[in-house]
Amino acid sequence: MLEVPHGIYRYGCINCGGEISDLRLQHMLPCEKCLPLHVTDALALIKEPSHEKVVELTEKLSKLHSLRSLKTLISELNEVNRLFEKLIGNRMWNAQETWAKRVLKGQSFSIVAPTGVGKTAFAMVMSLYFALKNQKSYIILPTTPLVIQVYNRLKEFVEKLNAKISVVAYHAKLSSKNKKEALEKIVNEEFHILVTTSRFLTSHYEKLLGKKFKFIVVDDVDAILKSSKNVDRILMIMGFTQEEIELTFKLIRAKRRILTLKAGSEEYTKLSKEIEKLQTFVEKLSKKTKTILIVSSATGRPRGLRVKLFRELLGFEVGTRSEFLRAIIDSYVKPKDTIENEVVRIVKLLGKGGLVFVPVDKGVVYAEYLAKKLSENNIVAKVFTSKEIKALEEFSRGKVNVLVGVATYYGVMVRGLDLPEVVRYAVFTGIPRFKFSTKLEDPHPLNILRALIIVREVIGERREIEAIDKLIVKMRKYLAIAPQAAVTELAEKLRQGKKPETDVEKVFSEALQYARKLMEDPEIKQKIRELKEVAVIEEEGKMFILVPDVMTYIQASGRTSRMFVGGITKGLSVVIIDDERLFFGLSRRLKWTIEEAVFTDFDSLELSKILEEIDKDRELVKAVREGKVKVEKAREWFRTVLLVVESPNKARTIANFFGKPTIRRRGDLKVYEITTGKYLLMITATGGHVFDLAVTPGFHGVYVPGEHYVDTYLPVYDTIKKCLDCGYQFTEYVKEKGRVCPKCGSRNIRDSLETLNFIKELAEEVDLVLVGTDPDTEGEKIGWDIAVHLRPYAKKLMRTEFHEVTKRAIIEALDNPREFNRFLIEAQVVRRIEDRWIGFELSRRLWSVFGKHWLSAGRVQTPVLGWIIKQHKKWK
Ligand SMILES: [Zn+2]
Ligand SMILES: [Zn+2]
Repeated sequence: MLEVPHGIYRYGCINCGGEISDLRLQHMLPCEKCLPLHVTDALALIKEPSHEKVVELTEKLSKLHSLRSLKTLISELNEVNRLFEKLIGNRMWNAQETWAKRVLKGQSFSIVAPTGVGKTAFAMVMSLYFALKNQKSYIILPTTPLVIQVYNRLKEFVEKLNAKISVVAYHAKLSSKNKKEALEKIVNEEFHILVTTSRFLTSHYEKLLGKKFKFIVVDDVDAILKSSKNVDRILMIMGFTQEEIELTFKLIRAKRRILTLKAGSEEYTKLSKEIEKLQTFVEKLSKKTKTILIVSSATGRPRGLRVKLFRELLGFEVGTRSEFLRAIIDSYVKPKDTIENEVVRIVKLLGKGGLVFVPVDKGVVYAEYLAKKLSENNIVAKVFTSKEIKALEEFSRGKVNVLVGVATYYGVMVRGLDLPEVVRYAVFTGIPRFKFSTKLEDPHPLNILRALIIVREVIGERREIEAIDKLIVKMRKYLAIAPQAAVTELAEKLRQGKKPETDVEKVFSEALQYARKLMEDPEIKQKIRELKEVAVIEEEGKMFILVPDVMTYIQASGRTSRMFVGGITKGLSVVIIDDERLFFGLSRRLKWTIEEAVFTDFDSLELSKILEEIDKDRELVKAVREGKVKVEKAREWFRTVLLVVESPNKARTIANFFGKPTIRRRGDLKVYEITTGKYLLMITATGGHVFDLAVTPGFHGVYVPGEHYVDTYLPVYDTIKKCLDCGYQFTEYVKEKGRVCPKCGSRNIRDSLETLNFIKELAEEVDLVLVGTDPDTEGEKIGWDIAVHLRPYAKKLMRTEFHEVTKRAIIEALDNPREFNRFLIEAQVVRRIEDRWIGFELSRRLWSVFGKHWLSAGRVQTPVLGWIIKQHKKWK
């Protein structure tokens, strides 16, 4: 903390936008004109500065300008909080408060939240808040049971409020009479809050057009995205026309296309002009809607290009939490007995809350066999498949101890289960894998790719290698973005063996031919047999290749270790090795993906201690879920943090350590958001220096006591501007010319004030702002400039540093913030003034002596040169 001012910032006052000292900013105060009190006097009146108190005092003593919107936000937030207390029994959690602020500011965004953070409760209370203001909300849920659940809770809440609020639900379980009634109410707009499944959106969205919703919540966007048209439907409900959506989509496609073109080519130039035009159009469009949209994603990866419409029109990209953040003990068993007997032994040791996964090639029949075997040994076990979903409910209520299911990436037991308080461990009866025959009878696009990759590995110096490499790249590219439905359709076409029509079909069918042909080659067959990480088996005269499926292993074992408010639950995974090669492959691939993952021998584990930890975490999750944890306590476990770094690249890299971040944009400014169980973390960048010494005020940018209103020499800072046309960087516009580049007259100027304003808004959303600018003198000053401007908006603000960009270093930095170092800041302040004064004054002399205006003298060289001359004269 500073005790005296160290600088003046032009345009920094939080109320009038005028000049202000860093001392006042640091204490959250507006400038002397807005709050005509000395810092000490103001602080004596306010005692502990808070937003409320500063606003109150300023309003009392003068007039509110920008602070008025802060006042509104505070009072609306209090209103939401009171509603929460009344309905849920406590104030909002910090993550909920962050979301509420965004909603109140009218922003759409995507939620990435750990279990227990109260996403649904938030959606319900917020809808009621709007209903009380006579505005409409729409909650879209993935399943009918969820619709019924939410509807019933909303009804309870409405009763508690004793308000005239109409809630309408539409779902599959309604009688046809009730369905008709609900539809009528929807059409006649006789509702405040509408709750439906995503299927309703598909079949009835026309009825929702023109209904003027204030607030739409899409819970589990993955269910919505099964049909990419649903994105359009939501946007149309928000008031965009089909034509506007198509134009926006054209922009998205053009942006993709231009990446493949050579810069400078005729087509490139043409397309970039079109993009510019479309971009301007879309930016105007994006201000059109008054509806706020919140989208949350559970586990899946939102795929397809259409989801990018959210990015262009609403300024956010959907992210997902990371499956790579886990606290799992990975262990293995080399079976001494049959695999089935090993399963029984392991489950008996570990008890309830177990998931037993069988390899996909052994299938449901084997799962049923295992469940029977477990039951015979007095373990209540049931098979869980997409057809047998009742078992899940019994498992979640503790009536069934173990679920047995198939280990496939999209299987229900791998993805359709999120029970962090129930699931304690997972057992794999064999390595999760893919299996396909060398004849590729089932030419699924993924199998073709896998087969060709294996062939590629053993093919040696053959002439086909170049063609194969190209095909692999193309297939990977396509599969990375294609929606699931499109891949299924492609698989079907390939299965039918029809003549390929599209480019994609041609690529896959060519790849299929290569794979089939080469895998029949005896030499290649032999080499595949010798591979270390792939298993080859013969069945009924056919050769099958088995490849370890590491992503399914991560997903499936991940059921035992979930993110919740408070951290990540501990989990245990046991792999029974049925093939050494596959296990070798799995452990290697797992280590590539998750550095710290190592398999240890199950029978060497200290089981009692591990199980104790596992159970302790489950108790915690339960307490959180049942609302038995005080909000204050939860805030200690889970914090909302904004990390500010210098380089935009660094911000992106850091965010990607923790999953696929959700991104919000403002022009070309971005903030990434991820969650780690301990933090809801936002990361953004300043893009280097934001401020520099101004030129015109005072003596070369420094106020001088006696001449100006200050008691001490004080540097005056202004934001750095950059001309995007000629690249000229400057701090001040020329008064007579206005907001144009002083060099070339262009209006295409990037002012870091925009960056600053963007970061200010973000600072308002979180518990803690961490300034993570570079760990050097310059970084300390860049950080300080930012910090004083964020201080009036942030609840708490600290400095942190990291010396390398690794996940470990970042977590360290988050856990160990510090105060700013005043000495480093002062050193940099003096250095910059020296630079300016000595530079300017000496250069001026140089000019007058030599008559050459491009000469400049440096802060360091000049005194050194002087010293050399002095020494030289001494010795002469
Ligand atoms: Zn002011
Ligand atoms: Zn310029």
